Amino acid sequence: MIADKLAETRARIDAAARAAGRDPASVRLVAVSKTHPASAIREAYAAGQRDFGESYAQELRDKAEELADLADLRFHFIGHLQTNKAKYVAKAASYVHSVDGAELARELDKRARAAGRPVLPILLEVNAGLEAQKGGAPAAEVPALVALVRSLPGLELRGLMTMPPFGDPAAAKRVFAELVRLRDSLGGAAALPELSMGMSDDLEIAVAAGATMVRIGTAIFGARE
Ligand SMILES: *Cc1c(COP(=O)(O)O)cnc(C)c1O
Repeated sequence: MIADKLAETRARIDAAARAAGRDPASVRLVAVSKTHPASAIREAYAAGQRDFGESYAQELRDKAEELADLADLRFHFIGHLQTNKAKYVAKAASYVHSVDGAELARELDKRARAAGRPVLPILLEVNAGLEAQKGGAPAAEVPALVALVRSLPGLELRGLMTMPPFGDPAAAKRVFAELVRLRDSLGGAAALPELSMGMSDDLEIAVAAGATMVRIGTAIFGARE
């Protein structure tokens, strides 16, 4: 069941990439497992999936413990992160997509170094459209955040993430294009190789716009409670 949904989702990504003249291998599928049990992650892992997205710090911590035997599994933290929970994420995540401010960046840097891990790859979450988006730093603050993160030895800046208003494909297209423009103004793909954008409903739009990571939950694991 999960294996079928994963294969269908991968096929959607590959078709969208080909339609855009892109290499399908240039788009990484992050299977968003938040609120689903560790057993669902095991099922997806058995089908070959390695990248998983989580949105809640304690849930990530608990699942990372439960799944510690799966050594090459990678957790991507994609949710809003409070500074006082950064320690769980700095320890358990392979990527953090949702860094949205200076205080959080400094705390993650400190915690990543304290955990004795190699650098923690992060993306800056941008409120690219200034529409009814939930999270992210305003685009105007991003250049200063880029400079800050590059000065922090525990973090490695990999790119940008955004989340458009839900259920509005026209707005999604606008917001994704805005994120690409912002990335271009900051040195392009050479400086910021990753663009995390696209969810179950808008992954084709995101891949057409240049996404390198899509975050897909519902289409793989079904509806959340
Ligand atoms: C939950 C979540 C997703 C997955 O959304 P679906 O619509 O279930 O694919 C992607 N990104 C973020 C930031 C999320 O919180």
